[in-house]
Formats: sequence, structure tokens, C-alpha cells
Amino acid sequence: MRAYDVVIIGAGPAGLAAGLYAGRARLNTLIVEREKDGGQIVITNEIENYPGCVEEETGPSLIERMVKQTRDFGVEKVLDTIVDVSLDGDIKILKGQHDTYSAKAVIIAAGAHPVPIGCKGEREFSGKGVSYCATCDAAFFEDFEVYVVGGGDSAVEEALYLTKFARKVTIIHRRDELRAAKSIQEKAFANDKIAFLWDCVVEEISGDGLVESMTVKNTKTGQTTEIRADEEDGTFGIFVFIGFQPNSALFKGKVAMNERGYIVTDPDMKTNIPGVFAAGDIREKSLRQVVTAAADGAIAAVQAGKYIEAQE
Ligand code: NAP
Repeated sequence: MRAYDVVIIGAGPAGLAAGLYAGRARLNTLIVEREKDGGQIVITNEIENYPGCVEEETGPSLIERMVKQTRDFGVEKVLDTIVDVSLDGDIKILKGQHDTYSAKAVIIAAGAHPVPIGCKGEREFSGKGVSYCATCDAAFFEDFEVYVVGGGDSAVEEALYLTKFARKVTIIHRRDELRAAKSIQEKAFANDKIAFLWDCVVEEISGDGLVESMTVKNTKTGQTTEIRADEEDGTFGIFVFIGFQPNSALFKGKVAMNERGYIVTDPDMKTNIPGVFAAGDIREKSLRQVVTAAADGAIAAVQAGKYIEAQE
């Protein structure tokens, strides 16, 4: 078992900021990440709202610098998936697939993941025309048609990004009004590559190997329409951006959560369990952005330091 002062679960902006502050406070700190560093931000092509970000900042470029900062402060990082946690005692135990870790304080910064549509064929065609990441998959649809499902900031921003590749981008939204910020909406309405399919939900996705057609249903009239790929193209893309769910299943029954599974904290990022803090998108909060995740991480690390000091 490897013993630390602080173990941080997740290497997104919240976990990396927590690592930076914990490392700077000379706490013996480990960040455990199950996939790629950066969390959802690495699937974001353009960052223009993180204070001080450089021109043409991308998710990966910002994360790369954050990772370097934590490394420079001596924070360890490991690729492992935590499968069980015991958080009640003074020493917290985190069991990973590869190793077991102990910590005096734990910061949960495991983030959130995209919500699937839940329609027939979605899972089958995931990676075969259905995508949850425009940055990752837009290039596959150079000069093809794509559909974007959703009406929030993500859907509309990613639709704008997709216009750089696809010849036409149609936003399918379940209402007749976008949820996205007005400034983002204005850009979409002014872009002549973007069309809208209002009051519609996707009911079924089908094809032979690749997506070839989808059935959409009008939420007001109940009428269903089949959208088929252009004959020459043979396929089209479906990019899904209909919100997120917290990656909190592991902590269910162990840390207090709201009804949607977001971990409840006080303003100091303290959960209901002493020595356990939560930061970033996994936490119940009103604004989930890189800047708020980073701020949460900083607060959580400082409070974890104070908690450890008080225990000694
Ligand atoms: P969101 O704001 O929750 O929007 C989700 C969209 O998907 C809504 O338009 C919603 O429709 C629709 N939707 C939800 N469930 C659906 C379903 N089952 N079928 C069809 N449509 C469905 O999610 P988001 O756009 O991913 O953004 C998440 C958070 O990140 C937000 O706080 C957002 O402001 C923030 N964000 C900010 C930026 C930025 O500032 N640059 C960029 C990306 C994200 P309704 O509108 O009808 O509910």
C-alpha cells in the first residue's frame, strides 16, 4: 500500500489545481487518474473563457501546462481506476485496480460524463457515426453532413466547431428555443452552414456498419421522420451534447449527494465526511467551468492541508 498525505481522484482542472496547491504546501500528494489527464476539457477545442489563457488555447494545451505545474511541485500521478473506497477512518483507503493507496485526506475530483440519448442504435453506432466529442471525431466528417443533438452551450459551440469540417451541420433540439448563452446563439444563427430541427428528439439510429439513417420525432405533433444519408455520402455524423452526469457512483452511500448524484459540499469543499473534500464538476454547484473547477481544487487542497494539520 502506498501512503500519502493527500490523494486526489481525477486529473481534470479541479484535480490538477488541487495538486498544484497541495504540492506547493509540501503535502505528499498523489493524483489518481483512470484515463487521460484533463477530463472533459481535453475534448474541448477552443478555450476562450479561462482568465489569462493564451490566444488559440485548446483544452489539451491548457491541461499540458497544468500537468507540468503539478509535476514541478513534486506531485505524483498514477494511472489507475479506484474501485473501492473506505473514507470513514482517520486514514482513508482507496483500492485501485493496480494498487491500494492510503491518505490522511482525499479530494474527489472525478468529474462528470456526457449523457447519452438512450435511443435504439445509439450504443451500437457509438464510434461508427455517433460521437460525444467533436474535437476527436470532426475530421472524419470532412465535407459530410452532421447532426448535433442538444441546445445548450456545448451543443451550439461544438456545432460551430463542426462547421469547419462538415458541409452542413443541423442542430436537433427538443424545444424551439436554445438554452445556450445568447452570444453563442448569435454566432450559430449567423453561420449559414448551420440549420435547425426544432422540437425534435432522436428515436432510432440505424445503418449497416456505419450510421445510415435516423428517425426523429416531433415533440409537438408526434410525427416521425426518417433522415437518410445522402446517397453519395452513404453516412452522416451524429454528435450528442445533451448534458452531463457526475462520475460519483463509487461514492454512493459513502458521501452525501443530491438527487442527481452530485456531491454536496460546503463553501470550503468539505463533504459530510471529515477529511474528504470534493471539487469540480462532480460537486453540486451552479457553474461548471474550468475556472470554477480550478478554484474548487485550490480551496479543497488548502482545506485538506488545514485538516491534516489539525489532526496532527
Ligand atoms: P446543458 O446546459 O445542460 O444543456 C443540455 C441541452 O441538451 C439542453 O438544451 C437540453 O434541452 C438538451 N437535452 C437534455 N436532455 C436531453 C434529452 N434526453 N434529449 C434531447 N435533448 C436533451 O448541457 P451542456 O451544454 O453540456 O453544458 C453543461 C454546462 O457547461 C452548462 O452549465 C454550460 O453553461 C457549461 N458550458 C459552458 C461553455 C462555455 O461557457 N463556453 C461551454 C460548454 C458548456 P432543454 O434546453 O430543453 O433542457
